[in-house]
Amino acid sequence: MNIKISERVVIFNGLHDQLKKDKKIKQKLKGEWIKNQRKNFNPSAKKDCDVCGKYKDVSEAHHLAPLYIQYERKITPCLQNHVWLCPTHHKIVHLVINNAFNSKEVELNIKSDEKIIVDKIANEGVSLIFGEKECA
Ligand SMILES: [Zn+2]
Ligand SMILES: [Zn+2]
Repeated sequence: MNIKISERVVIFNGLHDQLKKDKKIKQKLKGEWIKNQRKNFNPSAKKDCDVCGKYKDVSEAHHLAPLYIQYERKITPCLQNHVWLCPTHHKIVHLVINNAFNSKEVELNIKSDEKIIVDKIANEGVSLIFGEKECA
């Protein structure tokens, strides 16, 4: 089959647009799913950060199995197990989890006793995610 260059460009652009549209739809579905899980989420009473033991007033509920990963892994029903973390340690825990999924080793400049707790929380999340059956 002989396709003219100009036709190839049209086909390629069509595929490209379709991929972009698919990606948008996927992002939208993911966002809606996460929003719904947050709506149904009944967190325990606010506590001090599990890592540093401070900042109860600004602590955030962290899903041990992060929602965006649960969505990607099609985990149902959604796992709402959570711990409370201050904003800084919350960010750090997510960094460690993402690194675990990307098999990246990143040196974190945090106290060794805090590192142990951060790793424990991240590992709990990773094993929760892989301990659950995938659904179609
Ligand atoms: Zn903290
Ligand atoms: Zn979190």
